[in-house]
Amino acid sequence: MKIQLKQYLSAISNEQADALETLTFLVGDSDDPNTNPSEWGRFPHQKTVSERFNRAQKRNATTKPFTTDLPNDKGTRVSFWQVKADLSTFEYLSLARKVAQQTVAQGSETVTVQLQKLPVTTHKPLVDALISALYAANWPLTSFKSRKKDKKPTKRLHIYGLKTLVDTKQSVATAEGTNVARDLTRLPPNVLTPGEYRKRIRQLATQFGWQHKFYNKTQLEQKKAGAFIAVLAASENPTGGLVHLRYQPARRPTKTLALVGKGLCYDTGGINLKPAKFMYGMHEDMGGSAVALGTLIALSRLKVDYAIDCYLALAVNDIGPMGYRPNDVITASNGTTIEIVHTDAEGRMVLADTLAIASKAKPDLMIDYATLTGSCVAALGTTYSGAFTNREEFHDDVIAAGRKSGERVWPFPQDKDFDAALNSKIADIKQCTVGGGPDHILAARFLNRFVDKRVPWIHVDLAAGNHKGGLAHIPTETTGFGVRFTVDLLQSKVFAN
Ligand SMILES: [Zn+2]
Repeated sequence: MKIQLKQYLSAISNEQADALETLTFLVGDSDDPNTNPSEWGRFPHQKTVSERFNRAQKRNATTKPFTTDLPNDKGTRVSFWQVKADLSTFEYLSLARKVAQQTVAQGSETVTVQLQKLPVTTHKPLVDALISALYAANWPLTSFKSRKKDKKPTKRLHIYGLKTLVDTKQSVATAEGTNVARDLTRLPPNVLTPGEYRKRIRQLATQFGWQHKFYNKTQLEQKKAGAFIAVLAASENPTGGLVHLRYQPARRPTKTLALVGKGLCYDTGGINLKPAKFMYGMHEDMGGSAVALGTLIALSRLKVDYAIDCYLALAVNDIGPMGYRPNDVITASNGTTIEIVHTDAEGRMVLADTLAIASKAKPDLMIDYATLTGSCVAALGTTYSGAFTNREEFHDDVIAAGRKSGERVWPFPQDKDFDAALNSKIADIKQCTVGGGPDHILAARFLNRFVDKRVPWIHVDLAAGNHKGGLAHIPTETTGFGVRFTVDLLQSKVFAN
């Protein structure tokens, strides 16, 4: 899907406005509640619009946005959205979602927006937010409804009133990555089996020119990846395993980034079976892998000059007689022995071996994404995601990238004394505790045991992977959260220098 973008350094003329079906104005907000279109700088048919606004105001009937039809042959429908100058990126994205919803409902293939009397500092974030929201609103998400809605997709976005042209490469690249992740994550578990997922990943690898390798159960056994295999054990003829993709830049790279994702195509909980309320929705437990993949797509589109190794841990946490059990002791690929406590803590099992394998190549930075713990959701809700790192000095940049991207992330502590909760009487470490406690922090401490200390590492627990009613610019509950955050984070001193 592609939306053609045109940016204009001029204001829209009367003739241009009269030729349109719809026209959206984003207007600088004033602290004065009596603000009137006559004070909004010059725009087509301003006098008529002002008079109508005043009449509506007298009747207490002004709508937000104020919407009216221009007195021309087309009856151009104009809407005026008032924008405050000091919004956060999250707020710009949230506003843009409403604008996109309105323009999609109006059904015009061309969305025309005029920035009216807005401070120049708002232009770039507004252009980014509009692009991101229009891509999200129009992305052709897979649907299994027998009657499809025939809404017309947006094909063009024309923005008038800019001071300078805005570079939109990153907005478009992250939109594609986010929406691919969102679509994959929404797919039902009988459609997106690990085998089908692998097929789609192979197609993407061909499209983007990534190197592609797959390690099946037998090959993981050869790597002594006992933690990963424990999760595959309950499935009959498992099609899961470890996918390794590599992006190689045009010129010899000086740095390597590793992206890791949890890809549980379904999570029943295993022998510690989930109750109905918590099992429903567990096809989204592969969201972390989709975000890693979406990030790889965005960075490939941006033609970054470093190499990227992307590891996707694909499996289904099934129930079956061969499944792993609490009290089992399992040996991971780095030799660490793990006492199993709860089979629903399978995410950290596949990630343990995947992080150990990814560490071996000594990347300059490693980031993993996982819908890992309920306690992270309990701690943050679902509008933020949690971050955990073995480099505490990253905290400020992690928070800043969350704010800059509008995908807000907050760090949690990683002090060594948390490890006491994972002491095992029989093995090197317990997988988790039997219940309660700061499981999101303990999960990160557990994973830390499988990461080479020399590798700077950030673990993202995707609490905001699903948010009721949509989040920021994303209209669906499945958010694809993490792609925008990562692309901004990689431009901070965490990775760029
Ligand atoms: Zn689980």
